[in-house]
Amino acid sequence: MTEFIENLAPIRWHEPRSSYDVVIVGGGGHGLATAYYLATRHGITNVAVLEADYIASGNTGRNTTIIRANYGIPEAVRFYQHSLEMYQALEAETGAAILHQTKGIFWMAHTEMAMRTERARCLINTACGAKTVMVTPAELKEMVPQVDLTGAGRYPVLGASHHVEGATARHDRVAWAYAAGASQRGVHVVEHTPVTGLLRDGERVVGVETARGPITAGVVLSAVGGRVTRMAAHAGVRLPIRTHPLHAFVTNDYQQGFGPILASTELSCYVSQTERGQMLIGAEFDAQPSYSRQSSFAALRSYSHKMSRFLPFLRDLRILRTWAGICDISADYSPIMGATGVDGFLVTTGWGTWGFKAIPAGGEGMAELIATSRPPELIAPFGLDRFRRDHVLADQGSAGTR
Ligand SMILES: Cc1cc2nc3c(=O)[nH]c(=O)nc-3n(C[C@H](O)[C@H](O)[C@H](O)COP(=O)(O)OP(=O)(O)OC[C@H]3O[C@@H](n4cnc5c(N)ncnc54)[C@H](O)[C@@H]3O)c2cc1C
Repeated sequence: MTEFIENLAPIRWHEPRSSYDVVIVGGGGHGLATAYYLATRHGITNVAVLEADYIASGNTGRNTTIIRANYGIPEAVRFYQHSLEMYQALEAETGAAILHQTKGIFWMAHTEMAMRTERARCLINTACGAKTVMVTPAELKEMVPQVDLTGAGRYPVLGASHHVEGATARHDRVAWAYAAGASQRGVHVVEHTPVTGLLRDGERVVGVETARGPITAGVVLSAVGGRVTRMAAHAGVRLPIRTHPLHAFVTNDYQQGFGPILASTELSCYVSQTERGQMLIGAEFDAQPSYSRQSSFAALRSYSHKMSRFLPFLRDLRILRTWAGICDISADYSPIMGATGVDGFLVTTGWGTWGFKAIPAGGEGMAELIATSRPPELIAPFGLDRFRRDHVLADQGSAGTR
């Protein structure tokens, strides 16, 4: 690990030029990974990533870092399983320490209906290449001794699905690994440069307006998280997306030894332990759409109440820090990747509360689409035209808890 840290390549910062082959708007994980794979897989380096603030200042640096593939529809399981496997190899590929740890995820069920959901998840995961099996309450207790199987007398644990390869990785290190890898190969990563509009030539998008002047581009990819509807509106594109806040918090340190990630299917909440020993807790997004990143006491109270039913020791810990991000949620709870119907303008969006795990596969897929003008098989089902064709990829149950 030390060797990796010492070997971490620095990011080469640049002033923007007036023209690029590809301009990527948004220096979050998806924008940076797309730039990295354009350079490494396709030799396309005349690329700029324009970030309004600092890289990973959006949701990429705010998430709870869970990587998993235990989704509920085949298209999603295959896509996220590929991403999970890319994460397993990312330290070796980039030489950067992203603190990847395979921990396993348990999704507890408290009713017969939830047990059926989890059994179905195991079947579809297995059929599509993800490792998920059912465990009994006794087996769960053996692997997570801290859990109260009565759910404080209110939410008894009837069983759980165990997604064996579930993992975490340090989020800002992932962004920096991609930024460093891309910039070492000639990509310009440009911070503090908000894109304020799109340049048009008739119907086609031919560049971006920025606070530092216009920049022309052969292709513009919007990878802006939390604000995509506004960016798409510059191109006259209306997306089936709403933006909702999502909160998380960490406690003070707890003795190391809480190994896995524990989630409740019905209560939509989850907990893991960070490398520093803090307990990291999250839940579902706010029902009210908003662009606010203000932390909310209501969320804090609700998350703490839910999780401490299963892990009573949490009641003795202190809340150290809380924060929020704003998430672009699509109408079917699946991402939207690819063409928009406007020449020269692509999107990677709808990453909602679940897009950190997708950064490697999303970036790889978008880079291939830009390089070849064809969406690769894994991302093809996630195109915007699915809404027009009525081929939606509804998977709310899987997306609900990250
Ligand atoms: C609290 C929380 C917990 C989460 N937990 C998980 C989890 O455990 N697992 C998981 O898989 N996902 C999780 N997510 C979701 C995940 O973080 C996001 O889906 C993912 O980070 C999206 O990455 P992105 O690159 O698309 O967007 P972002 O990381 O948001 O990056 C977009 C960037 O675009 C920039 N930008 C915006 N407008 C402009 C503009 N006009 N010009 C230039 N730049 C602009 C922003 O500053 C930002 O840096 C969580 C999210 C939150 C908020």
